[in-house]
Amino acid sequence: MTAEMAPGARAPALLVDDPRFDLHAPVGHHPERPERLAAARQAVAHAAAGFERVPPRPATDAELARVHDPGFIEQLSKLGGQEGYLDPDTYVSARSVDVARLAAGSLVAMVDAMIDGPLGKGVALLRPPGHHARPARAMGFCLLNNVAVAAAHARSRGIERVAIVDWDVHHGNGTQEMFWRDPHVLYVSMHQSPFYPGTGGVDEVGEGNGRGYTVNVPLAAGGSDAVYASAFERIVLPVVEAYAPQLVLVSAGFDASARDPLAQMDLSAEAFGWMARELGRLADASAKGRMALVLEGGYDLVAVEAGMRSAIEGMVTGRAGDLPHGEDDPGVARAEEWAKKAWAAVS
Ligand SMILES: [Zn+2]
Repeated sequence: MTAEMAPGARAPALLVDDPRFDLHAPVGHHPERPERLAAARQAVAHAAAGFERVPPRPATDAELARVHDPGFIEQLSKLGGQEGYLDPDTYVSARSVDVARLAAGSLVAMVDAMIDGPLGKGVALLRPPGHHARPARAMGFCLLNNVAVAAAHARSRGIERVAIVDWDVHHGNGTQEMFWRDPHVLYVSMHQSPFYPGTGGVDEVGEGNGRGYTVNVPLAAGGSDAVYASAFERIVLPVVEAYAPQLVLVSAGFDASARDPLAQMDLSAEAFGWMARELGRLADASAKGRMALVLEGGYDLVAVEAGMRSAIEGMVTGRAGDLPHGEDDPGVARAEEWAKKAWAAVS
């Protein structure tokens, strides 16, 4: 690892990034473009934090196969060198499959560094994003499910409880599906609803042994900082705290930002700092500080840079402004009711 510690910066966090992530590039215009990562890199460069880089490496077939269908992995591998669309939203360019493997594997490497080394906090600047990728299908700009591959890897390393908190504006249907029956991975999502991909209702709580370990908080378009503060305080934080995760992975999209062109939420950059600070506090309490911010969506470059910088600083330094209160969304009360019911059934 190489240290990059700005004078006066706080204790370092792990960082995953690789210029090869830019080789996943659309032909013509597409919102999921390499410039997004350039914006996130600016956030890292200017954040009040030091970083130690984790060497990137591709995920192995065995690591991917913990959450993806082997047939799908094989199919995807055959797309090397080709260009085209796997569904109306999801493109591959010549190097995309290699890049997706590198993104997933680099997050696995970061999890290993967290388990084996002294640094708990991490930032993963990954492309392509992952949370819509299903066991046997690429979807929604996503090829391989980075966060899910990393969570499954953490389990294989003896971590008993992984919490995935997904604040991307879209529901992470792929991640939910992969851990639907698994009590060892808690999946908590806040997302705009109704909206793409159409999943993430309050009644989707997992099944079998996994019942209660999927928690969905669908929010109406226009959700403000105060609505997210309410959702966090009433559901996300109590549920994650009760679960006492040994690792927290954040599906950190920045498309709930007011500026985002694809969604209709109204978050400020500061909201991401507050959410990251609060989750960092819980990671410190139960997970030896282990928490990673993993880039998912976010399609306005200014919002990605500002939101990511705020989130990094909230997580690493614990400094972030408090959010306004006093607004709520009916989805929060409904989600709270369902989460309580589901948790009462398991405890
Ligand atoms: Zn998204």
